[in-house]
Amino acid sequence: MHILCLDLEGVLIPEIWIGVAERTGIEGLRLTTRDIADYDELMQHRLKLLAEHDLKLKDIQEVIAGLSPLPGAAEFLDRVRGRMQVAILSDTFYEFAGPLMAQLGHPFLLCHKLEVDAEDRLLGYRLRQKDPKRMAVRAFHDLRYHVVAAGDSFNDTAMLDEADAGFFYSAPEAIARQFPQFQPTATYEELESCIEQAVASFDAAT
Ligand SMILES: [Mg+2]
Repeated sequence: MHILCLDLEGVLIPEIWIGVAERTGIEGLRLTTRDIADYDELMQHRLKLLAEHDLKLKDIQEVIAGLSPLPGAAEFLDRVRGRMQVAILSDTFYEFAGPLMAQLGHPFLLCHKLEVDAEDRLLGYRLRQKDPKRMAVRAFHDLRYHVVAAGDSFNDTAMLDEADAGFFYSAPEAIARQFPQFQPTATYEELESCIEQAVASFDAAT
C-alpha cells in the first residue's frame, strides 16, 4: 500500500501570500517559506503586517477567491488520485484553502487553523501539531503505507526526509542545491514518472 503526500503552495496552487501582497501592495507579505525557513518567525511577520494595515480575514479570503490552481495542477492531481491515495500536507490554513480546494476537487488536506476575533481580525494561528509534515508521514507509516512525497521548499524537507521517496517539485535552485538527496523535478510529467518509479520499487520490495 502506498500514499502520495503533496505540498500545496508552489506545487498545486500559487503562493497565497504572494497573491495577497500583489493585491494589497504590501511588499513585506511577499516573503514565503522559501525566504524565511522558520515558520513561526514568518507567520508573526505576516500577522504584524496585517494588523498594521488593518487587513481582516475576509480581505484575504477575497484575494484567494480570485486565485486559480497552477496550470495543469488539477489534471495532474486527477491522474495520480486515479492511481493511488493522495494527501495534501500544507502549512496553509483551512480558512484560506477552501476555494482552491474546491477547484481541485476537494482532495484530503491536512493543514492548520487561524485564530480570528469577533471583528474578523487575525490574532494568531494554531499549528495542527509540531513538525506537522514529518508527523503526518510517520502516521501513514504507522498505518502501514509506503510514502512518496513531493514539495518545493524548506518546510517540505522534513516530509521528504521521512518519506520512503521524496522529490522536489519546482523548487528554487538554491534550495534544491542545499538538499541534494532529494531529486528535483520541473514538470508534472517528470514528477509523475518519479512517483511511478518509486511505487514500482516499493511493490518490488514487498
Ligand atoms: Mg510550498
